[in-house]
Amino acid sequence: MNTRSVGFRLVAWHAGVSLLVCAGFGLYTYFGLSYFLRLARTDTLQRRAREVAAILAAHVEREGEAYTVDLIKTSYAPENNDRFIRIRRPDGSVLYLSGEPTDRAFDPAAVPMGPDTPGPVTLGNLLLVRTSAMVDGRRYIVDCGGSKLPDAQVLRGFLVMLGFGLPVILLVVVAGGAVLVRQALAPVRRIIDAAKAITSSNLGQRLPVADTDDELEHLSVVLNQMIGRLEEAFRHAQRFSADASHELRTPLTIMRVELESLTHETALDTPTREKIASILEETERMGKMAEGLLAISRLESGEAVINVSRFDLSKLVAATAEQIALLAEEKGIAIRCQAAEPVEVSGDRFRLQQVIVNLLDNAIKYSPAGGNIMLDTRAAGGEALLQVTDQGPGIPPDALPHVFERFFRADSVRTHSVNGTGLGLSIVRSICLAHGGTVEAANQPGGGCRITVRLPLAAPAFPGAGLAKRR
Ligand code: ADP
Repeated sequence: MNTRSVGFRLVAWHAGVSLLVCAGFGLYTYFGLSYFLRLARTDTLQRRAREVAAILAAHVEREGEAYTVDLIKTSYAPENNDRFIRIRRPDGSVLYLSGEPTDRAFDPAAVPMGPDTPGPVTLGNLLLVRTSAMVDGRRYIVDCGGSKLPDAQVLRGFLVMLGFGLPVILLVVVAGGAVLVRQALAPVRRIIDAAKAITSSNLGQRLPVADTDDELEHLSVVLNQMIGRLEEAFRHAQRFSADASHELRTPLTIMRVELESLTHETALDTPTREKIASILEETERMGKMAEGLLAISRLESGEAVINVSRFDLSKLVAATAEQIALLAEEKGIAIRCQAAEPVEVSGDRFRLQQVIVNLLDNAIKYSPAGGNIMLDTRAAGGEALLQVTDQGPGIPPDALPHVFERFFRADSVRTHSVNGTGLGLSIVRSICLAHGGTVEAANQPGGGCRITVRLPLAAPAFPGAGLAKRR
């Protein structure tokens, strides 16, 4: 769990605040309930005390004390109702004292006589109220009380409910908060996925814009505007390198032709002829560079896959190897092709041939005389695989991550002045990417280099084709 994430912090805050509010409301309800329970019990006790005082006033003079006490006992049965009744004569002696209540909440004999206040008093588990009855000008004191245990039980029950309820509320709040946060962040996830899918080859794509008129919508709009500006800058750079290389081609061709005609001049001495030949070589290299740059610009502007067709990659590899075999033979290098089965791909045949040519060209260029080059084509893991393995010096480990960059040439290659422009593998990578594939370079344990091209296999021509074949 990522505790620093916005989602976690939102849920934690939401749960914390909800818990505080619920606990606060629970306490408020607890004290409110306690107050109103006491109020209701005091009210009942005061009414009861007034009723007892009224019975005293009505009967004690005429029917006598014993009769009145019996009447009160039978009318209220204080012991069974967990009540307390005490009547004191005007001289202070006790006329009647109720017995022990069934819930044993208090001891009636231990209830003190004073203080002589009319208001409700709490004595342990007993709530006591006091009133008086005037009989023939003499004052009888009536104390009425009730057990507080039932109220305490209600309050305890409420606390237990709160204790069980709060964790459940917390659980619901956390789960609900997590769902809400997930839903709220879903558009952000969609933006992230869309942003991840945007590369230099599909800069025309835009992020989804949620129609919410809030920060999220503004974010997508602002990011889209930024991608638009990036696209413009990228296209500008692409146009520049395409225009520059295109413009260079003509003067370079003219220079080459002029230099070639100069080499045929018979009046030139040998050193001058050699210098012209060297300049001609460099001019040809510059021409190749301009061609390569133009090719990369075109590939990156989406012209890599023009004529899409479905074909067997292993056949294309074999045919291309045959065309290049002459070049290899000059160095005494043997090219061997290996393909156990047809490997169907769909793509631009001409461009993919360029990939094979560039890889073979490098393999021949960097292999020692008399070496072997292996071209292995097969289908593996749902992909078409082409591996070009040579017996050359391999690529220096520190150069491996850079060989697909434009104009990159390993130092060992530069010092041995091997012919090249540093654009061949860059073109290979652009073509592979445009076909939804990849290319990687690795050194062989026993020496030599292996370039692996992975391309998506063509979808089956029609469903059940393989099935029909097997039958
Ligand atoms: P270059 O025109 O220099 O061959 P590439 O883009 O084709 O340019 O290759 C880039 C660099 O990768 C080369 O300069 C070389 O250092 C290295 N390289 C490519 N293929 C091989 C290979 N088969 N063996 C050794 N090094 C290689």
